[in-house]
Amino acid sequence: MSVENHSNEEIKKSLNFVEQIIEKDLAEGKNDGRLQTRFPPEPNGYLHIGHAKAICMNFGIAKQYGGICNLRFDDTNPSKEDVEYVDSIMENIQWLGFQWKDIYYASDYFQQLYDFAVELIKSNKAYVDEQSSEEIAKQKGTPTQPGIDSPYRDRPVEESLRLFESMNSGNVPEGAMVLRAKIDMANSNMHFRDPIIYRVIHHPHHRTGTQWKAYPMYDFAHGQSDYFEGVTHSLCTLEFVVHRPLYDYFIDELKTFKPEDGEYRPQQIEFNRLNLTYTVMSKRKLLQLVNENIVSGWDDPRMPTISGLRRRGYTPESIHKFIDKIGYTKFEALNDIALLEYSIREDLNVKAKRVSAVIDPVKLIITNYPEGVVEKLEAIDNPEDENSGTHEIEFARELYIEKDDFMENAPKKFFRMTPGEEVRLKHAYIVRCTGVKKDDEGNIVEIYAEYDPATKSGMPESNRKVKGTLHWVSVDHSLPAEVRLYDRLFNVEDPSAEKDKDFRELLNPNSLVIKKEARVEKVLADVKAFENFQFQRIGYFNVDPDSKPGKLIFNRTVSLKDSWSKIKNK
Ligand code: ATP
Ligand code: MG
Repeated sequence: MSVENHSNEEIKKSLNFVEQIIEKDLAEGKNDGRLQTRFPPEPNGYLHIGHAKAICMNFGIAKQYGGICNLRFDDTNPSKEDVEYVDSIMENIQWLGFQWKDIYYASDYFQQLYDFAVELIKSNKAYVDEQSSEEIAKQKGTPTQPGIDSPYRDRPVEESLRLFESMNSGNVPEGAMVLRAKIDMANSNMHFRDPIIYRVIHHPHHRTGTQWKAYPMYDFAHGQSDYFEGVTHSLCTLEFVVHRPLYDYFIDELKTFKPEDGEYRPQQIEFNRLNLTYTVMSKRKLLQLVNENIVSGWDDPRMPTISGLRRRGYTPESIHKFIDKIGYTKFEALNDIALLEYSIREDLNVKAKRVSAVIDPVKLIITNYPEGVVEKLEAIDNPEDENSGTHEIEFARELYIEKDDFMENAPKKFFRMTPGEEVRLKHAYIVRCTGVKKDDEGNIVEIYAEYDPATKSGMPESNRKVKGTLHWVSVDHSLPAEVRLYDRLFNVEDPSAEKDKDFRELLNPNSLVIKKEARVEKVLADVKAFENFQFQRIGYFNVDPDSKPGKLIFNRTVSLKDSWSKIKNK
């Protein structure tokens, strides 16, 4: 897959293809002018940014056209599902700013689906197969070669009825039998070659407990659930295109039992998935990262999950912007994570308060500044927001600056601190470096400088030209903090494309660097979890939920500039 590059100015103005279909259907009065969508997650993991796209589509379109969108849990596989996932899914949807009308569960329809399966058996359109799923797969044929009939295909209806009942009784071991729809073993659409519609699972279900042992497969549950609920437009991703004829087939069959429903039928429409560079999106792989402690949990800030993005400092608005930018099409593509990062920078640029934090501190002593004097300086909260206020920062004789902002023997273009040269300390004075103190191993432990009192920010002399401006905090007026520098989880653009490698070999070993000695300005003493800030000159950071007053923890959401494209282009 190639990476899609959208220019930031590229804003869609025309209707996307789904909106076009819906406007036409509404104009024609189809489904009595109703618009009903659903978001149908399987509660077998946390939602990821790909799901956010499906959420924005389903909830967004219902909102846009005055329709309704329900939340339906596709809970047909109890062995992989859990209430923890149900809860996180509801939380994530609301955090994104959407509200469902009703909540449904596919398990609400187990009885109806079971009854429908019995009807199909009675009409000789389904049979119990006692072969293993491997044997059944072997008989499927290929797209150009017809499949082979199961030896059980023509077994008497009564026998299938009895066996289907026993599949649900608990007496049949898992894998010993399945129920198959009897359709067409030669159909060019492989999904019509007597698809499995029921299987036996003994694992208790998180809602129905041990009531059921026979569970419907996705293709036998999804369309019918849409139908039972009155969904008009069943929006899903492109991999379901090949399932659509079967979706329609089961609805046709179901409608033969429901003449009272008239013309109504749900319509499946597919759009492209969201795929992101430098990450994996399969729930199976994400679960593996969690179970093997490669990440700290589903909400680890490196995870592409909605909970992870939130903990990383992403806002709902930034996710909406990103999804708007990539749009909805009929073609699969790989979306550039740089565009997601651009979206959060753009959002936080106008929202985040500017503060000073020194992540790798070294002491700077202003030797000609009087001891014991503390000056209160004014810092603008956000120059990009005309309504924003100011806050105070203290300037004193002993400061911290970043180790990286000093170099003893600097090349010409190093516009930071180096002996003999001047730099500005942001909001404060121009200082000239006069020397350093080193320990026995040659490490710099203190840097010395002299300030020029006439160059205080805002005073006429302050216009003197210096090439660099550094951020700093006062030693006595700053707070200790832990800063977690997060980066991309994988080193390669498309980990899933590297078929001959285990995806865990492709992890970025530097995706988390923890800085325990950071110092931040005092205004951050009482921050709340998830609050966003710009650490001046460094990047956007947010408050980790584990942060406490006295033990502050900040996560790097994103650097100020895209450093990866620079590395890549070297
Ligand atoms: P799996 O079926 O492997 O458990 P899934 O990602 O398909 O995982 P579901 O819970 O079945 O997860 O997905 C719910 C809805 O979200 C589906 O309608 C699906 O089409 C949509 N969806 C899932 N992944 C993406 C994605 N990457 N981009 C857009 N929509 C997605
Ligand atoms: Mg799925």
